[in-house]
Amino acid sequence: MNSEFRRLPGVDKILSEERIKQLEDTYPHELLVSVIRQHLEHERLAIVAGNPCPPLDKIVDSIFAEIGKLENFSLRRVINATGVLLHTNLGRAPLSPETVAAMSSAAQGYSNIEFNLDSGTRGSRQTHIEPMLCQLTGAEAGLVVNNNASAILLVLSALAKRKEVIVSRGEAIEIGDSFRIPDVMRQSGAKLVEVGTTNCTYITDYEQAITDRTAALMRVHTSNFKITGFTHSVSLQELVTLGRRHDLPVVDDLGSGCFLDTTAFGLDPEPMVQQSVTAGAGLVCFSGDKLVGGPQAGIIVGEKALIDKLKRHPLARAVRIDKIRLAGLAATLRHYLKGEAQSKIPVWAMLSTPLEDIEQRAGKWANALKGMAQVIDGKSMIGGGSLPESTLPTKLVAIKGEHKGKNRNLAPTLAQKLRSADIPIIGRVSDDVLLLDPRSILPEEDEILLRELRNLTAILKHS
Ligand SMILES: *Cc1c(COP(=O)(O)O)cnc(C)c1O
Repeated sequence: MNSEFRRLPGVDKILSEERIKQLEDTYPHELLVSVIRQHLEHERLAIVAGNPCPPLDKIVDSIFAEIGKLENFSLRRVINATGVLLHTNLGRAPLSPETVAAMSSAAQGYSNIEFNLDSGTRGSRQTHIEPMLCQLTGAEAGLVVNNNASAILLVLSALAKRKEVIVSRGEAIEIGDSFRIPDVMRQSGAKLVEVGTTNCTYITDYEQAITDRTAALMRVHTSNFKITGFTHSVSLQELVTLGRRHDLPVVDDLGSGCFLDTTAFGLDPEPMVQQSVTAGAGLVCFSGDKLVGGPQAGIIVGEKALIDKLKRHPLARAVRIDKIRLAGLAATLRHYLKGEAQSKIPVWAMLSTPLEDIEQRAGKWANALKGMAQVIDGKSMIGGGSLPESTLPTKLVAIKGEHKGKNRNLAPTLAQKLRSADIPIIGRVSDDVLLLDPRSILPEEDEILLRELRNLTAILKHS
């Protein structure tokens, strides 16, 4: 082991290597030394663990790569060919050009984000968006925060700290990525009182759980699953009626939050924000980047007295939205106000793309693969915790892994190859077939995809 340590080069030795020397033009000397030291320490530990010391050029390779990592952004644009329109791992909603322009403009210079141009005095960032939210939803007041998880945290902290909130057992859910409604409620200091059973909850269950410690009744959209069969749940209307009798507000966590009628797009009905407001929910909260189709945000609308309470709460500052996303959300909401959401907001445009258009695009891509791919029927999903069971018919490009009768499954290799493209393309592999869904691909990305598919044919030919 000692002899392995002795073979480990010193910092100066590495600095004198030609490839590292060149980097002195771009990076401060201290940075190079720091990366080299860190890497040598890493090698030392590897030797302690019983590994041999790598040759000098391997060590230089690794250090060169480490420095390269500082240069490259690891967060990159990708093409979503999964057919899941609101894919949380792929950044949820793509934004309209108007939204992007508004965000870019807000980012570049100063803005009147908290400045009243009439009076020349301090203003509130919420004034830029609140009237739009009220107009769209029919609510008295509104507030935008960082995301829906923070909206729930703020609502429960402001309304129910050290008090109780009643929620149906069937709605005490986990959304994914360890985001659990009961955990968030605990963070807020509110005590969760679960009523009913997993599949059945009745209004009497809520009623019997009301005590003088109760602060609110809560409904949570069971975003990513559906209980079917023998079930019963309480309508928002019933909850509101019960709440009014006991002077308790109803908080409605809609999750996705939708302004348009999804049945018009051939989908299952998704509760709309306007309906919750009309039904009399005291507060309704939802995400900005799910079916709303805007940037990440948490939107809360409802009764003015309750919203005012939220605005005054100290947590409001901790979860506030930044100027760039506020500008973006306003631009997205404007599409709804102007009645152009379906054509301008990418997720809604994708939802409403006619099957013939999708088939035509899929056909073009399958052709580029010169008979190595087929167009088959498939289903696109909405994702983002909305419409868990509802799918849209689509046409998929199916690339078979096996080739020339040889039964070698290439699908994972092809999928990996597409992921390593300049603009990575994310498809899905199912039953040894690589599937690409045009529905979740922006029309302006078609050319990029076509180019990468042509590269793919080279691999298929030589396999
Ligand atoms: C997605 C979701 C959330 C979390 O929203 P984020 O904007 O991701 O913080 C909360 N509640 C429900 C019901 C959801 O579907």
